[in-house]
Amino acid sequence: MSIAMISTGTELLRGTALDTDGAFLGRELVSRGCALDCRFVAGDAPEDICSALAAALKRCDSIVVSGGLGPTDDDVTLESVCRFFGAELLVSETLREKVSSFWARRHSGRCPKRQFRQALIPAGGVILDNPYGSASGIGFDTLYGGRLRHIFLLPGPPAEFEPMAREHLVPLLLRYEKRFRATRGFLAAATGEAALCRLVADALKDFPVEIAVTAQPEGTRLYLSGEDETTVSAAIEAARRAVGSNALPENETELFPFVGRLLLEKNRTLATAESCTGGLVAKKFTDVPGISRVFLGGVVSYSNELKRKILGVPAEILETHGAVSAECARAMADGICRATGADCGISTTGIAGPDGGSAAKPVGSVFVGIRVADLCETFELHLHGNRMSIREAAAARACNFLREMLS
Ligand code: AMP
Ligand code: MG
Repeated sequence: MSIAMISTGTELLRGTALDTDGAFLGRELVSRGCALDCRFVAGDAPEDICSALAAALKRCDSIVVSGGLGPTDDDVTLESVCRFFGAELLVSETLREKVSSFWARRHSGRCPKRQFRQALIPAGGVILDNPYGSASGIGFDTLYGGRLRHIFLLPGPPAEFEPMAREHLVPLLLRYEKRFRATRGFLAAATGEAALCRLVADALKDFPVEIAVTAQPEGTRLYLSGEDETTVSAAIEAARRAVGSNALPENETELFPFVGRLLLEKNRTLATAESCTGGLVAKKFTDVPGISRVFLGGVVSYSNELKRKILGVPAEILETHGAVSAECARAMADGICRATGADCGISTTGIAGPDGGSAAKPVGSVFVGIRVADLCETFELHLHGNRMSIREAAAARACNFLREMLS
């Protein structure tokens, strides 16, 4: 048994909307010990939907189709799917009533005839209740290629798809889907995808686990899935040992929340002084709920004048070494701790580009200052990419330097 998802909608093909429904279902299944085996995106045309169905049915017995259940002309999913399987469409009295009462709650006047397309259901199908919208979900079983297949149709808007998937769809899929899969992961901070794969290849070669990696500015997340939790946890431990000190603990896949908890555990407070990252470090810390217990605040000291006035960076450092220097990064980290009373400080100063680079300090040169109590260290980075990716990477590496100094 395996599961496929077909997301329908021409907007998904054009890129004007993202297939978050498919991603949601994938995550939801993994969190319940199961997995999605393949995903397709089809435009709002019967032939597109039918060819996606034919492809999905080659591999899978449970097929989830999202979108195209509305009353308008571009909503052709139900008709297309039923024609594909030769299923007869009938009017459901329960759905007729739901469609009219839903209309009456939101509009005045008579419910237009086209709305009643949403009262159709394939013979033998079951209704998957949707309290959030006018279209209901539908499930039905059908024979195809000599095997019993389970078909589920759900509305596309995420505000409807997500609660319906959680409440109705996933429990049904789990009933058919007997295999159990455990998934565990961790973040390898400051480690690229290729480097991570190289590091763990030997350690994992004898474990019966499936590997999935996600590259992020903070590093690379490694997820391992397998038949049972003991095997997967043992494989995670082996992979973490191979990665070394950049490996976060099992199930820790986000750097900033992890460092936030580390600060709390060590009873430390933090403040930031940012130049080239323009507040990104502070933004990422303040994305974490509850961070106010450790994060005091930050300064975006972009000009030399503010570096001097607010952080007390000596004019002499700016004249002799320049704002993009280890000396300036150190003075900024010291200055923000002095100004705020925080016992940890992070500073960033660098050249994010596209202009402003020189032979000595090319675009991507970034200095990070980290202060933890009486110890202040500086780090020099040579980052690649565009302005945004350099800033993202600088913020993440700065956070990771703090993690290393705290650990
Ligand atoms: P539909 O159910 O096809 O009428 O979709 C209505 C709206 O829901 C679309 O205009 C999209 O904005 C959104 N939507 C549809 N399918 C998806 C999907 N797979 N992921 C995220 N949003 C979607
Ligand atoms: Mg649509």
